[in-house]
Amino acid sequence: MVRSENTTFRPHKCSRRLALSQKARQPGFLISGTTKLVGLLGWPVEHTMSPVIHNTAFAAAGLDYVYVPLPVKPSDVAAALTGLKALGFAGVNVTVPHKISVMNCIEKCDRSAELVGAVNTVVFQDGVATGYNTDMAGFINSLAAQKVTISGKNAVLLGAGGAARAVVCGLLEGGIGGLVVGAREERKAVEFVACFADKNRLAGCDWQKQSFAQALAGCDILINCTPVGMYPHQEEAPLLDWDALNPGAAVCDLIYNPPVTSFLAQAAARGHKIVGGAGMLVEQGALAFSLWTGAKAPTDVMYEALDKVLADKCR
Ligand code: NAP
Repeated sequence: MVRSENTTFRPHKCSRRLALSQKARQPGFLISGTTKLVGLLGWPVEHTMSPVIHNTAFAAAGLDYVYVPLPVKPSDVAAALTGLKALGFAGVNVTVPHKISVMNCIEKCDRSAELVGAVNTVVFQDGVATGYNTDMAGFINSLAAQKVTISGKNAVLLGAGGAARAVVCGLLEGGIGGLVVGAREERKAVEFVACFADKNRLAGCDWQKQSFAQALAGCDILINCTPVGMYPHQEEAPLLDWDALNPGAAVCDLIYNPPVTSFLAQAAARGHKIVGGAGMLVEQGALAFSLWTGAKAPTDVMYEALDKVLADKCR
């Protein structure tokens, strides 16, 4: 596998609402012989909201693209990548459980994918498949969109899984001052942080230990990277010693369904600034949109589409 030149992800400025132009297509448009194809490779993919977000964005931007779900079993990933290339797909998003295995099926990896050790976006160009990770910058852009700054600050994570890895890489790239990763088993937190070269700014511990409470006291940004509180278990929340947390800390959740989790509701009730996972979902999608099309993504339209689909699901 060869490394491609670095891709610099810059936070999108909060774009103005993109009015549907004359040439923009309405959702429900006709697919033609020139329509370019993109999609989501995962297993399963029935739950995905990405087709609505991306197809609304393509329509708003007047781009002749369509985004389709692509359910692919783990054993078929390599064959699927070959097939997508042969079919002339412009690219795909990649989700669970293929984000790591897909790295063995593509020709090149961008620095973002190498840093995270996982691919969530593939671009097919001139017969070459290049993997990117837009989760990392997507999370950072979602903080920037809410005016949460990271340079020189201290962050605390709950959870040490795949999404936490992209978050840690993004925070380190963004100049975080210190980072404590808490997990329900100390061994997992310690093994997790050991994977990163940057040892000085990172520590892992059991989130029930006193040292974790100390980390909460000095924390500027607290991030839930566990699935605790995700639909259909939205009444659940990670257990936290809220009294130990710095009252000025911003509190984030990677979960986007529901948009405001019980965890975030508890934080808001205590006066913390909150950032939900919808931002990361839209911002990583916006970066993928730009990689496929070369155009700036209409993020406001994408946020609106996600709000609408989430509201419909909650009805
Ligand atoms: P993952 O790889 O399975 O990791 C989950 C982490 O949470 C692990 O550290 C796990 O610990 C911990 N955990 C799971 N259940 C727990 C519980 N009941 N109590 C305490 N800890 C628990 O999952 P992931 O891919 O990182 O995803 C995590 C969350 O992020 C999901 O809700 C996902 O939907 C969300 N996400 C959002 C976006 C976005 O765009 N907004 C993107 C990616 C992921 P153990 O190892 O001990 O089980």
